[in-house]
Amino acid sequence: MIGTSLQGLRIVLVEPSHPGNIGAAARAMKVMGLRHLVLINPRFFPDPEATALASGAEDILDTARVCADLDTALQGCHKVYGTSARDRRIQWPSSNAREAAGEILADLGNGDCALLFGRERTGLTNAELDRCQVLVHIPTAEEYHSLNLGQAVQVLAYELHIAARTTPPQPAAPPEEQPAPVEDMEGFYGHLQHVLRRSGFLQDLRATRMMRRLRRLFDRARPSRNEVNILRGILTEIERWAAKVDRKDQDSL
Ligand code: SAH
Repeated sequence: MIGTSLQGLRIVLVEPSHPGNIGAAARAMKVMGLRHLVLINPRFFPDPEATALASGAEDILDTARVCADLDTALQGCHKVYGTSARDRRIQWPSSNAREAAGEILADLGNGDCALLFGRERTGLTNAELDRCQVLVHIPTAEEYHSLNLGQAVQVLAYELHIAARTTPPQPAAPPEEQPAPVEDMEGFYGHLQHVLRRSGFLQDLRATRMMRRLRRLFDRARPSRNEVNILRGILTEIERWAAKVDRKDQDSL
């Protein structure tokens, strides 16, 4: 089959409470050619109900990675997609399931990506959505938007499978232009926030929204590792300069 491999895609379930959903997700993945399941703090796992619902996809459960936090789950990925039952377009860029499948395939050409699914009752938190570059929405009827977790995985896995069958392998960017992994971006955002706070630019009330906007801006630019290092170098020099100014101010007191 000429198509694109889905091997670099991690399906990440954030704090699933029902083991049956983990099994159903594993089965949905296996039939659509996805392999990498990551579970963040599952309430029960391993569990007989997960195994029963996996029915034929136990190997996906056996090789599933259990992580304590999102940072560990996303390490090494350069792009993160988050699924949401609610329409939150105002604050995050979003795509429907079909569009997202095509975009994910293009991104896989540049390395590992992750697709996040939220908790059965409450979905993903805003802080978790902030870690996603794109929100993915499965179009539904007007009056009710929320699919069962296992079924949401099924719909996305199906779209990815169809897109992968029809998309030729994507060329990778040259190594120096590969987008930086998410852990480098997080390091940069933490540093940027620190400097913006110290400078007085970031005020508590607006800080979350402002950082969200800045994330969007840098996400669009897709900086390489090298470029992130340059940005951090700039921040470090600003910090040194601010410390020097502080010292001078104190000396003149
Ligand atoms: N009440 C929650 C619904 C959680 S459903 C909320 O409002 O977010 C559990 C998970 O299934 C969601 O976090 C999401 O990952 C996925 N899901 C359910 N319905 C979806 C939809 N219409 N589009 C995209 N993902 C969906």
